[in-house]
Amino acid sequence: MKDCKYCGHAHTPGSNVCPACGKFYTKIAELIAEEEAEEERRSFQGRVKRIFQSDDIKVAVKLEFKQVISGLSGKAKFTLFVIFVFVFALIVTVI
Ligand SMILES: [Zn+2]
Repeated sequence: MKDCKYCGHAHTPGSNVCPACGKFYTKIAELIAEEEAEEERRSFQGRVKRIFQSDDIKVAVKLEFKQVISGLSGKAKFTLFVIFVFVFALIVTVI
């Protein structure tokens, strides 16, 4: 592979990122890394990890929950609502 096109630092074998300037050597490597980071962000493990890494777990949980809700489609939201109402109705009738 060629040297870094941004700063000219010699290419480090086995690495996709230039150690001198932190930029990716190729656009494809950058896109793959972005894709993986995005997967990590969306995955349940990624969310849990972020929650535990944050200083304020309560705020982190709230934030992640908000993101999950905003990422849901209208149909998914409706389904969740129906489940919630069903569970609520069940609890009320039992009590
Ligand atoms: Zn560089």
